Amino acid sequence: MTHAVHADRIGLASWPAGSLICGEGVHAAGDDHVFMGLALDEARAAASAGEVPVGAVVVARDGRVIGRGHNRVLALGDPTAHAECLAIREAAAATGGRLEGATLYVTLEPCPMCAGAAVLARLSRVVFGCDDPKSGAGRSLFTILCDPRLNHRCRVSHGVRAEEAAALLAEFFRTLRSTER
Ligand code: ZN
Repeated sequence: MTHAVHADRIGLASWPAGSLICGEGVHAAGDDHVFMGLALDEARAAASAGEVPVGAVVVARDGRVIGRGHNRVLALGDPTAHAECLAIREAAAATGGRLEGATLYVTLEPCPMCAGAAVLARLSRVVFGCDDPKSGAGRSLFTILCDPRLNHRCRVSHGVRAEEAAALLAEFFRTLRSTER
């Protein structure tokens, strides 16, 4: 059962919220709290649909939400249907692919695929909630988002509403394990 394997993959480790691993500094921390709330709403929608609860939104430079997504791997039968990729696709469709200046908010640290998508989309900033020490590519295993060898780097903030994001994941897997018995 892939979910059972996945349960052990979600890290609940906590580092100081809002600290930065690269880039030039956090701004509008209050906005970060609000936009992460929208990503958490998406994560709850995933949980309601029986998917691993991860949610994401893309916010344009002017503060408009231009993309939303939650994990739909099971619904679409698509292993690439992660919250971040779906939100980036929607945002790109809305803007003709121009995502410079935009910020991706996601409840869980992006995997290598989604971090790569954020770089390709030339997002200015990525804000994530809890860490994923088993597959995170924001800071845990890799630092794809701000690798100086790539031709674009995103500013990265982490730990924003991390406890809520982690609690959703923990509750989801706890329920899953109890129904599997
Ligand atoms: Zn991913």
